[in-house]
Order: sequence, then C-alpha cells, then structure tokens
Amino acid sequence: MATKKLFIRTFGCQMNVHDSEQLEELLKVAGYARAESAKDADLVIVNTCSIRDKAEQKVYSQLGRYRHLKKSKPHLQIGVCGCVAQQHGERLLEKAPFLDLVIGTHNLDRLPECIARARQTGRPVVETAFRETVPSIGIPTLPAEGSVSAFVTIMQGCDNYCAFCVVPYLRGREESRGFEDILAEVNALAARGVKEVTLLGQNVNAYGKSFGGKHSFAQLLRAIGAVPGIGRIRFTTSHPKDLSDDIIACFREMKNLCESIHLPVQSGSDEILARMNRRYTSADYLDRVRRLREASPEIAITSDIIVGFPGETEQDYQKTLDLMEKVRFDTVFSFRYSERQGTAAVGLGGKVDPGEKRRRLIELQALQDRHTQEKHDSLVGRTVEVLVDGTSRNTDRDVTGRTRSNKIVNFAGGRDLIGRTVRVRIVAAFLHSLRGEMLEGEGGFPGCSSR
Ligand code: SF4
Repeated sequence: MATKKLFIRTFGCQMNVHDSEQLEELLKVAGYARAESAKDADLVIVNTCSIRDKAEQKVYSQLGRYRHLKKSKPHLQIGVCGCVAQQHGERLLEKAPFLDLVIGTHNLDRLPECIARARQTGRPVVETAFRETVPSIGIPTLPAEGSVSAFVTIMQGCDNYCAFCVVPYLRGREESRGFEDILAEVNALAARGVKEVTLLGQNVNAYGKSFGGKHSFAQLLRAIGAVPGIGRIRFTTSHPKDLSDDIIACFREMKNLCESIHLPVQSGSDEILARMNRRYTSADYLDRVRRLREASPEIAITSDIIVGFPGETEQDYQKTLDLMEKVRFDTVFSFRYSERQGTAAVGLGGKVDPGEKRRRLIELQALQDRHTQEKHDSLVGRTVEVLVDGTSRNTDRDVTGRTRSNKIVNFAGGRDLIGRTVRVRIVAAFLHSLRGEMLEGEGGFPGCSSR
C-alpha cells in the first residue's frame, strides 16, 4: 500500500510546535509520511492556538483556503486540533462543515483512531472531552537525524486562572509528566546527538505539584543536567510566583543551564496585577530579577507584557514603563489586551479605548527596542559561545546559532560546524541578531558545557 501523506500547519507557541511534532510521530506509526505542502497531502491537520484573538482569526483564514482545496480533492481529510478545537468543538463544524476531525487538547493521542473512524463512517469526528490524565504529554519525538536541539514536554495545563487567559479552560488542570519518563526521553535525545533541550510547560516552575511534590522542578533540572552529552538546558514558561530559591540556585550551580529565562511580568502596576490575578506585586517581581542576577550576572531576562487590560489607567501604564526601565529586559513580547470568551476579565469594567491601546503598545515597543539594541551593542567586541544549529537563511556561506543567552549570531562558516559549539567574537549588533567572527583555530567542540 502506498504511503499516505500528511501536512501539519501549526499556529502559536513552542508548545504547539512540539505538539505538532508529537502528532507527526503518532501518524508516522499509522503509515503517514510528511508532505511538502497541503496540495500533496491526503490528510491536513491545522494545529491551533487561541490564546489571542488574532491567532484564532488566522486559523479561520487558513481553513478558508483549505476549503477550496477540498473541493478539488474530495478524498482529502482535514482536521483541526488543539485550543480552537477544544474551545469550539461541534460549533466549528457550523463554520467549517467540510472538516473531518475536531480533536481537543486532551485527545491528541486518539488522532489515528479518529481518522480511521471518519474515513469509515464518512462523518466528522469530534473529540473534546477532558480526561483525568493526558496521554499525549508522554509521546516521545525523535528529532530528524543531525538535529542539535529538541523540545521535551514536562507538564501541561495550568491551575492559575489569570484573568485574561484561556489556557486553564482549554488545556485543563496542571499535569506533570513522570520524572523517569522525562529522563528516559532526554537520554534518548542525547544518544541521538541532541546537545540542547528546551523543557516545555505552561508553568514549568510548578512541575511536580500535581503528584504531591515528590519531585520538584529544581530536582528535575539537576537530573537532566547530569545526562551526558546535554550541553545546554533551557525551559519555558515560568510564573514569577513559583520561581523558587531552589530554581534560582540552579542558575548558580549548573554549568549546562543556559543563562536565559522567560519570566512574564504582564504589567508593572500592582492594581492591574491584582486585577489580572497574577498573585505577585511589581516589588516581588523586581526582587526575583535581583536574585536571578545575583545568581547569574549575565542572565538574559525576557518577558510578556499586556497593555490596555481593563482598568489600566495612564498611571498604571507608566508604571509598566518604569518597571521596564528598572529591569532592562533583553526582549519583550508585548500585546494589546484582547478579550477571550470565558475568562474572568470579560466581566471587568474600565475597557480601554482601542486607539489608546495601540498608542501604548507602539510607545512600549519603541522603548523595548532601545533596550534590546543597548543589550546587543554591549556584546560587540566580546567573545561568546555559540551552538551552531544551521546555515543562514540569507547565504549558505554563513552559519547561524545561539549564544547561551539565546541570542542569534550569524558568522562565516561551513555546514560542518552544525552541532558544534564554537567561540565567536561579536563584531556588529542589530535589533534581532548579532554578527560575529569565529576565532582563529576554532575547530569547534561538541556539546561544550563550559561557560
Ligand atoms: S500562568 Fe500562564 S498559562 Fe496559566 S493562566 Fe496564567 S497566563 Fe495562562
């Protein structure tokens, strides 16, 4: 029987990208191989994100394009997985009646059986029930031969119920993956030549709480740090209130924990943080930043900020700018508040005018661009350690990689450097990347873990 072809279109964050890798792994076992485009596929999966209104709208535009494809190719199966599927369930079929599959966040492991059922019955299959455990957390993925970096899911779901966020409703309660299971996956990745792992979860700092705190996130970090061959460890995302002293100590102690953390602050105003149900103050946040920098002076700190949350006054907004001046983030992902149905913020008064939200966002982004450029400029003339992960998008005479602080560096070099860690002197700084020169006689050394 000829191999069936699969095309996955992914929207959203790193967790969704990794969910798609897991889906591909599952479907490989079911006899599917990757297609280069939707036109060449027998099955198209749209793996969705609905964290922001814009992300959801993009999903609907994409489905509109696939509707035309299905008309010219009736045997094509089309499925929607992930957050939008979880949120809308059966209702998605009203908007997109050509769909064959609607599979929510707790049922991704059932995809092969659902595909077969839809094919046999000729009717769409919708699976969106929440389950006690989420088997798809543990689907190991094998990155392509020669891959340098890999994602590893360690937990999913969230118990925090921030007032603006749909995640607890769409991904369910926090569930941590087994300690030994994670270690087995990291060992398998190292055996395959992976040098860098990024641990994923909606709130990785809460790892272990769902099984009674038998293992903490800091213990997991230390255990992964001891896996031979893993030269770099990263993780995302961290809730500031759960960033313990023990996790901060890992930055001081562990040579292979990269000096980089994504720590969403969301606002610099205590009133807005309380309305958001974030359960920390701006002083708490600044204290965590201080302790992180004491433990790891070079640490890069990135963040998420929302402007125009209901009730945000000009004064509140100025407090966010003040906090940015104090912290001097390396990068910030900033957004205008957009209402998500079902969240607590929908009922809050004090809606901010859309034009005002736009003005605040533009101004805030300009401030952050200045800070990012200053950070990058400060690296010019310094020597950094770069893990090379590919060739440059612009020319195959250049390779590209990341510093331990997660900054992109491009420099002249051949493909033979991919997977190696080399020392590079930074010669120019731009807003989104750095330009470097590899040091003389630098042959590269595999998976270096020295700072
Ligand atoms: S901690 Fe993050 S994922 Fe959880 S509710 Fe808050 S913003 Fe959403």
